[in-house]
Amino acid sequence: MRIENTHVHTPPQLADPWRADLVLRSLLARHLAALAPPQLAPELLGRLARLGQQAKDELRPAAALLNRPGAEPLLLQYDEWGRRVDEVRTSEGWRAIATWFAERGIPGEAYGSMGQERWLKTEESAGGPGRLGAATRLYAHARTHIVSADSHVALCPISMTDGAILVISKHGTPSQQERLLPKLLHRGAGAHFAGQWMTERTGGSDVALTETSAKKLGDGDGKAGDLYLLDGFKWFASAADGHIALALARTDPDKSRGARGLSLFIVPLRRENRPPLPPGVALPADSDPHSSFNGIRVHRLKNKLGTKFVPTAELELNGAVGELVGEPGRGVALIAGVLNVTRLYSCSGSVAALSQAQQFARQYSLLRQVRGEPLASLPLHMRGLARVAVLHAGLSALLWHTVAVQSQVESTPGQQRLERRVRLLTPTAKAFAAAKGTEGLAVCIESVGGQGYMHESVLTTHFRDALVERVWEGTPSVLALDVHRVFSQSKGAALSEWAEDTLKSLKASAQALPSAQGTSDGLVAAVRSTLEGAKVLATAGLDLRAARSVLDLIAVCTGGEQLLAHAVWLHADGGDASEAALFAERARRWLAETGAHEAAEELRARSDVATERAIALGGEEALLQARL
Ligand SMILES: Cc1cc2nc3c(=O)[nH]c(=O)nc-3n(C[C@H](O)[C@H](O)[C@H](O)COP(=O)(O)OP(=O)(O)OC[C@H]3O[C@@H](n4cnc5c(N)ncnc54)[C@H](O)[C@@H]3O)c2cc1C
Repeated sequence: MRIENTHVHTPPQLADPWRADLVLRSLLARHLAALAPPQLAPELLGRLARLGQQAKDELRPAAALLNRPGAEPLLLQYDEWGRRVDEVRTSEGWRAIATWFAERGIPGEAYGSMGQERWLKTEESAGGPGRLGAATRLYAHARTHIVSADSHVALCPISMTDGAILVISKHGTPSQQERLLPKLLHRGAGAHFAGQWMTERTGGSDVALTETSAKKLGDGDGKAGDLYLLDGFKWFASAADGHIALALARTDPDKSRGARGLSLFIVPLRRENRPPLPPGVALPADSDPHSSFNGIRVHRLKNKLGTKFVPTAELELNGAVGELVGEPGRGVALIAGVLNVTRLYSCSGSVAALSQAQQFARQYSLLRQVRGEPLASLPLHMRGLARVAVLHAGLSALLWHTVAVQSQVESTPGQQRLERRVRLLTPTAKAFAAAKGTEGLAVCIESVGGQGYMHESVLTTHFRDALVERVWEGTPSVLALDVHRVFSQSKGAALSEWAEDTLKSLKASAQALPSAQGTSDGLVAAVRSTLEGAKVLATAGLDLRAARSVLDLIAVCTGGEQLLAHAVWLHADGGDASEAALFAERARRWLAETGAHEAAEELRARSDVATERAIALGGEEALLQARL
């Protein structure tokens, strides 16, 4: 028998990311209608649809270049003459994606000044903050979301660049803003990118142990814009091919001051981008004169499970020139501004990957025949895909609500209630999407069988890449502690306001849609459990396990509340009644399937710490001691 005469698979074909995701389109229609000036939402939705098509026609082929052998970044430490050069080489495909983003104003579309003015007047642009007002960040983020799944994680440096632009716009000196922002916002080849350097070998979760020190150049106490020399070791630095980094370093040599001794610096990666030196100040001779780096040695590029094309490096700072941002000692507070942005990108990364994987698995179920029928006709198979779809819908509802709040906060600063809400929801959405998104991806792989497990498949690529969302920008445990910090620092206000708003919305939904009363009641009970969890935390001392349950509950309640609110909006709009009913049903299933019951039970039962430790370690402590 010839192989050609036997059965041949019909591979799924991915549609453009906008057309393929009905939930995304529906949610954005509502949020844009709420935040954009009247009559503008249809135009913005049209623009997003065009970007989706471009992502398929232009970005996807450019990203396919990365599938060629040799596309991973390379480090050349020494040239053929034995000179230390430290060149980080990325592939043509990687650079093509970066240029494609810059040309389309990703991330420039979210900003209205520093060279953006002329772009915002062109047909390509929707007009920026001056035209979009409170919808600016929402629209800009929707654009990054649409291109996310086809970008091979090239949004990682973009997210850090976006965060750096925000921080420099708010806290940079006029000189820093004028020199750096036009380059970071440039729309075309040669745009600059930023990284963020926090993690050291002492720990990424706890930066209080940071060893990198910064010594002031010249006299004086140290004020914003002053130059310093940085010495230390940054253990994970993505965007090693970028232009600047926002880096934490210790300006107070007293290590007992922990995070309070850390300041924030703009560090150019290359000597050519160093800021001008003040009169009378000289730099020590460069130890590696043939390297173009700014007192930086690249020790290694990380060999990672996924995110293979992102050049993540180990960097030795050896007299790197850095400019102080803001006041000394405010480093952690200032870099949090970057994290709030990158965590939203991370959440989007998880949700967009799940969306594309889901599309693949859905198509496969329609194409693959089992017992003479497509898989899609088997209720047992549909059960798994329906669970993934509910996960995707709930995470999308949580994401877009959080982005919509961030959009309002950015457009009109000083709205403290909204600021507290987004501070609470950003780590929550990021952590929950990372944890649940990867679970959903595993189900997609399973539902495509052996073909789903292949290295080349979009499913395994997303799975490898998406696992990083559980680690970078904070693990779920670390983000749960961040949520705890938000409500402690706000003296409980962040959580009580969140509960008040959520309960109000649930009540309104149940009134407008009586069939949703049961789901609304279940979510109300989950909100009450969350508040109980906060009480547990207030007296928990060092046992902060409840923080994770609280985070999970906030995520489930907000996602469910938003799904119901969306069902009501569809219903009230005189829109598609069956769509409204589907959203209400998604809300019911989301509450039942995403762990609210388990989280509430954990808070109630509070297992014994010593027993849990014994189960967790399973005798390993004794084994380790025996080895020593
Ligand atoms: C691909 C990749 C790229 C990266 N790029 C960058 C980058 O560009 N810039 C940058 O600064 N960093 C970067 N990182 C580093 C990343 O942010 C850290 O790995 C992460 O913050 C965790 O820090 P760690 O690796 O030191 O782990 P640890 O801090 O040692 O954490 C180990 C475990 O301990 C848990 N843990 C820690 N503290 C607590 C606590 N108080 N309570 C309970 N549990 C706790 C964590 O949840 C985790 O499970 C990158 C990481 C990866 C994988």
